[in-house]
Amino acid sequence: MAGWLPGSKGERKLAMAVMVVLLLGTLAAVGAARQAAAPKAPPPLVEAETPAALPLTGWTILVDPGHGGYDGGARARDSGTWEKHINLAVARQVQQALMARGAAVVMTRSEDIDLCTDERPAGKTMKREDMENRVRMAREARADMVLSIHMNEYRRRSQSGPQVFYREGCDGGRLLAGCLQETMIDYLQPRKKRSALAGDYFILQLEVPSVLIECGFISNPEEEKLLLSADYQARLGEAIAEGAAMYATLSGGRAGAADHSP
Ligand SMILES: [Zn+2]
Repeated sequence: MAGWLPGSKGERKLAMAVMVVLLLGTLAAVGAARQAAAPKAPPPLVEAETPAALPLTGWTILVDPGHGGYDGGARARDSGTWEKHINLAVARQVQQALMARGAAVVMTRSEDIDLCTDERPAGKTMKREDMENRVRMAREARADMVLSIHMNEYRRRSQSGPQVFYREGCDGGRLLAGCLQETMIDYLQPRKKRSALAGDYFILQLEVPSVLIECGFISNPEEEKLLLSADYQARLGEAIAEGAAMYATLSGGRAGAADHSP
């Protein structure tokens, strides 16, 4: 022992005592640190809802709020609200409900704008350029499905009920329209239960399943009130997303949805 600590015997004893205290302190600290770093019990195994389990995972869906900007569309008979505003409000609900089901959503517009540019050639109408740009967006996004959101109107105010249109001869579009018509009747319980119909609309020219959804009549007093309410708009969003999910299940996936030529 002697020799490695300097000083007298008493000093050496004191130094030894100090060292023991320091050593014990260090050991205690290391122990505490070990305890803190000790692995905890593994978390219970939970069947997490993985993205792959959602019905629209892997699907890219173009949601098109009809009209916008210079083009107001139809006008609600009692409130005077332009169709373009209601279309956008409903389309936002559709977007959220689709994303909740795993879809990637591309919106043709997220504010009150039209899709016209400054480079419009002479002779082409604003409406034509606007519509062409919506179709182009669907192709560029490589959308697997197109949902164009509109509100209907008719001079006779008794007409009511949502109605979905597809392109004649497009089997995918017809199936999608049928699914949407069914879920909208199921979720919204409209007085008038309409059937999906073939329709000749510009946005329906794509090869991928495309539909134009007339959510209801803003010329009908009761339906106008419903279509302007946030609660009904949210229900519409759920109904439409559920119809899209039903189509995804029935069609057996995205196979064959890769051809984007007209
Ligand atoms: Zn419209």
